Amino acid sequence: VAIPTQGELQELLQANGVRPTRQRLELIGELAREPNDVTAQTLWRRLRDERESKVGLATVYRTLALLRDHHVIDALNHRGGELCYRLCSDTHHHHLVCRSCHRVVEIDGCDLGSWIETLADAHGFTDTDHRLEVAGVCAECRGDARRSGP
Ligand SMILES: [Zn+2]
Ligand SMILES: [Zn+2]
Ligand SMILES: [Zn+2]
Repeated sequence: VAIPTQGELQELLQANGVRPTRQRLELIGELAREPNDVTAQTLWRRLRDERESKVGLATVYRTLALLRDHHVIDALNHRGGELCYRLCSDTHHHHLVCRSCHRVVEIDGCDLGSWIETLADAHGFTDTDHRLEVAGVCAECRGDARRSGP
């Protein structure tokens, strides 16, 4: 997957109602280079060490939360306690995460819609939304190189 350009990131923010400030673009640009996901701490360290950014840790936390609230990025829970963030595709998808190396695979083609609708209906719920994070052990961590992904 190609890393989005600065222009594409700017459009992405605007499409989700986030004003594309220089700092937000810098942050999401760095996040876009990460194939898996990162914690706020890790992203902050990279911005500081590799991009010579002067952004503060509190700003990184705040910006990531803002981007998540506007559905620009996803938050994952697999690192027990600390949220991880990832820039994913903007279509409905779920996450397959490796318990051992924390690789993240985006899975498309969700089949849960009708089941959830039935469930919600039975309990009188509408406007449902759902998240799913499937944890497992990837082929590489099992030493099964043949079946590891791209
Ligand atoms: Zn995602
Ligand atoms: Zn793994
Ligand atoms: Zn789904």
